[in-house]
Amino acid sequence: MTITGGCHCGAIRYQVEGTALTHALCHCQDCRRHAGAPMVGWTMYPTAALTVTKGKVKIYKSSEHGRRHFCADCGTGLFYTNDQILPGIIDVQSATNDDPEAVPARIHIQVAERLNWMARAHELPAFERYPPQA
Ligand SMILES: [Zn+2]
Ligand SMILES: [Zn+2]
Repeated sequence: MTITGGCHCGAIRYQVEGTALTHALCHCQDCRRHAGAPMVGWTMYPTAALTVTKGKVKIYKSSEHGRRHFCADCGTGLFYTNDQILPGIIDVQSATNDDPEAVPARIHIQVAERLNWMARAHELPAFERYPPQA
């Protein structure tokens, strides 16, 4: 399977070949703070599976060995590598896939750092668009 994707502004485009090793929803503080979002979805691939087909990512050293690749024009987070913990692996922010439904999430990880209210987020009132105006 070939998955294509890119950043919000289109300056960076990529493709990944083959089957994702996993698709994890990460609840760690590092992902949360970098994304500005309560959790981040990651599909994991061997590094060689990924080709950046357009543009050049900027790389942010988010921890001693962690590297977060993002678009310097629009700020979209794209890839994560960690030569220490995940040698030969590249994580792709799954919501940047052109078809984010193609590879469904399989697991939650780092729930030790999950926001307490996220554990029950699926129970919150849900609206097709917005709540009715009072
Ligand atoms: Zn961009
Ligand atoms: Zn994380």
